[in-house]
Formats: sequence, C-alpha cells, structure tokens
Amino acid sequence: MATQRGRNGKGIGKGIGKGIGKANPAEDEAVYQAILHALLEGKLKAGVKLAEPPLADIFGVSRERIRKVLHRLGAERRLEMIPNRGARVPRPTLDDVRRVYEAHRVLEAGVLTQLVRHVDDALIEKLTAHLAEERAAATRGDRAASVRLSGAFHVHLVEALGNAELTRFLADLLSRSSVMVSVYEPATDSICAVDEHGAIVEALRARDVARAIAVSREHFLHVESRLHLDDDPAPVSEDLTSVFATVKPKRRKR
Ligand SMILES: [Zn+2]
Repeated sequence: MATQRGRNGKGIGKGIGKGIGKANPAEDEAVYQAILHALLEGKLKAGVKLAEPPLADIFGVSRERIRKVLHRLGAERRLEMIPNRGARVPRPTLDDVRRVYEAHRVLEAGVLTQLVRHVDDALIEKLTAHLAEERAAATRGDRAASVRLSGAFHVHLVEALGNAELTRFLADLLSRSSVMVSVYEPATDSICAVDEHGAIVEALRARDVARAIAVSREHFLHVESRLHLDDDPAPVSEDLTSVFATVKPKRRKR
C-alpha cells in the first residue's frame, strides 16, 4: 500500500492534534504495540497516567494519533480512560482481581467440559507446540512474551470450540487479567506456570474432564495468589521517556 509521506509523516511537533494527520495504520499499530508491550512488560505501574502530550513527544506523532491508540487500549479494557486527559494504567482492587479470576475459572471449566468431547490429536499437538513456545519465552526471560503466551494458551482451548461468543468472553477477561499480572506480579516470580498448562493438556489427552477442570481451577487460583496488590498511593507520574526508551518506534522526532 502506498503510504504518502506527507507533512504528518514525522512528528508534527507542538500543540497540534487538530485533525490534520493523515491516517497511517502502520504508525498507529507501532505506537499501540509499544505501549502494549510496556504494559505487559510491567514497565508501567498501576495507576500511572498516560497523558497525550508527553507521549506525542516521545513517539514523534500527533496527539490525535496518541489519543486514538489510548482509546483502542481503553476499549480493550487494558487502560482506563480519563475524559479529555488521556488514560491511566488500571489499578485493580482485590475485588476486581477476585471477580476476574473467578470468571476465568468458571469459563474454563465450561470450556473443558465441552472440549473433552472433541479433543483430537491435532489439538493436542497444537497445545504441545504452544507449551514449547511458552517454555522458551520463560527461559529467555521475555516477560511480555510470557504474559502474552500464557494468555494465548487459554485462547487455544476456547478457540478449539469454534464459538466466537466464548472466545470474546475470554479475550475480554484476558485483557484485564494480563494487565493485573503485569502490574501486580513481582518480576522475580516465574510468570507462567508452564507445567500447570502442561497438566491441563495431559488431562485432555486422557479425556479426563474432572482432572482437567481440577488442574485448571488450581492453576487460576495459583496465578491469582501470586498477585501482590500494593497499598501505596498511585504514583502521580512516571518518567515515560525512560519507560519507552527501548521500545519506541524508530521514527522519533529529533
Ligand atoms: Zn494459564
């Protein structure tokens, strides 16, 4: 696709954001990925405000573009929107955490009940290959990849049922729980209990629905128990420049 590198191709500079930017999906996506990555990496703390002006400077794009990306992350429930001001990293309460993980347990118990009836070799192979990817990410200490892949494991389970409604429930829950893990799980803990995922796969291979549900339940309880909600007041600001120092898109304005 021919992208015109027009006047908005690079950082537009100060005080813009008045709708003069041309649509540039690739650039939107790059900024989206950078912010999402920082979020999943746990580099953005719970409660931190993501205001448009500093982000526009950091990424060398218009405020309008930043606003669009923040709205997308807000619609996915990965960020909380502050009207006219930008967005904030969620600061889930203990009750939020309980609700989300209870929903995970209930949903997956239902998914496994259905799934055990049509589990086949192809699915087991796919899940086994996925476990290998998860292990590799954990071994190289890639936290963002680990959070993403451990969510993707559960997506594979629900997708195997071919029910878009169920897949959507899970996607919504995962957006919320992956941010919870990123902001509340100490980086020193191992992120992903690959062996627990492995136990779910083994139970499916054996077509043992009771065991599959039991290990899945234990797994979510375990993940939930590793979250440490901090009681500190929300940080007012954070040095966003240093947060994005390594993940910003290349086209940074001078
Ligand atoms: Zn899991």
